[in-house]
Amino acid sequence: MNKNDVVIIGGGIIGGAISYQLARYDLKILVLERNPLLADETSKGNSGAIHGGFDPDPGKLEAKLNVKGNRLWREEIFKHLEFPRIQADSLILAFNDDEINHVKMLYERGITNKVPRKFLKILSKEEVLKKEPNINPEVKGALLCTSSWAIEPVKATLAFFGCSEKNGVKIRKNSNVTNINKIDDGFEITINDEEKVFAKNIINAAGHYADVVAKMAGLGDFTLTTRRGEYRILSRSERGIVNSICFMVPTIHGKGVIVAPMLDGRIMVGPTAEEGIPKEETRLVTREKYKYIGKIGTKIIPKLNIDKTEIILAGSRPIDLETNDFIIRYANENNHFINAAGTQSPALASAPAIALEIEKLLSKNGTKLKLKSNFDPNFKVMW
Ligand SMILES: Cc1cc2nc3c(=O)[nH]c(=O)nc-3n(C[C@H](O)[C@H](O)[C@H](O)COP(=O)(O)OP(=O)(O)OC[C@H]3O[C@@H](n4cnc5c(N)ncnc54)[C@H](O)[C@@H]3O)c2cc1C
Repeated sequence: MNKNDVVIIGGGIIGGAISYQLARYDLKILVLERNPLLADETSKGNSGAIHGGFDPDPGKLEAKLNVKGNRLWREEIFKHLEFPRIQADSLILAFNDDEINHVKMLYERGITNKVPRKFLKILSKEEVLKKEPNINPEVKGALLCTSSWAIEPVKATLAFFGCSEKNGVKIRKNSNVTNINKIDDGFEITINDEEKVFAKNIINAAGHYADVVAKMAGLGDFTLTTRRGEYRILSRSERGIVNSICFMVPTIHGKGVIVAPMLDGRIMVGPTAEEGIPKEETRLVTREKYKYIGKIGTKIIPKLNIDKTEIILAGSRPIDLETNDFIIRYANENNHFINAAGTQSPALASAPAIALEIEKLLSKNGTKLKLKSNFDPNFKVMW
């Protein structure tokens, strides 16, 4: 039987980063994506920020992999893969005394999470307004983080997969995994209810459907929920109104709300946060949230001309109900079925670090990782 050493299910940024990391080894690798396009789900509907790592709760896997992922993007991935990105400072804005305390807490949390101290600073009101004169003058101060970047997440995913393909990984779109059977020495995977392929190892990077895919294999030991975020993207006429990624202080329901410059010259406002919507509606935009996003935008930047909305966009964070953390581990009953799930924010920032964790798990389950002599880590996406 002609078995793949690894089948990666999911053509989002997490599947992409894993595919790129594994492409350097002498392995037969197949990627299966059910959509006609790669990166057309959560990896398309997000803020595209490589966060510094000051936000996740210390002790969580998210905290460790965010800080490591941020370093890997800057020091490794940007060296080899060309796609649109720019260094963009983050400003976490405080508008009252409670929020100032939160900003101070985030600074301390950043240090605990091992964000290098040189990247973090608390700014006074005057310093904020000097840096970003269009911010609401009611601002009281902010946390500045200078290790954050803005990336174009779809193009970044295409760079990962493009380079993987160049190095021998097979990538199949329109390939919906509809069943998985455990067989001797691996898995039989059914695509589109008809074709069978075989895998010694499965990497489950199916985003919102990772719990469904795990259950399909009889290995469903986690449950994901949704938290949809909607955006309004403003025209280039608003270009220059801010140069930093300007965040509201995170609250339980408004984590990560920003006004930020985009790489195409537009301005991004959002996202909202709506829990428990159906999996099939993770990319839906709604009339109700449209107005609310306008309010957020003008709270941060009163001058923002919110009526210049050109594009609306949505995506949803896949959240592990039990841990509210990434799930990067073997299925409980099978160490050849490896989950890269629960990929809520900051999984984009963490993607290269998640890929290294998956590589470690593969190596520990006995998969031989022999480096190819001709691996070429470089790739340029046209844009
Ligand atoms: C509003 C919002 C803002 C965010 N902002 C940030 C940010 O600024 N920084 C950050 O670090 N993170 C951010 N994130 C998180 C980030 O977007 C996600 O962590 C990341 O995109 C998850 O990628 P993924 O590959 O796991 O999932 P996806 O991109 O959803 O990819 C999974 C893929 O699996 C495919 N699939 C599913 N089931 C099957 C099947 N049965 N067979 C074949 N294929 C299948 C899907 O079609 C999909 O393409 C944000 C998320 C949201 C929603």
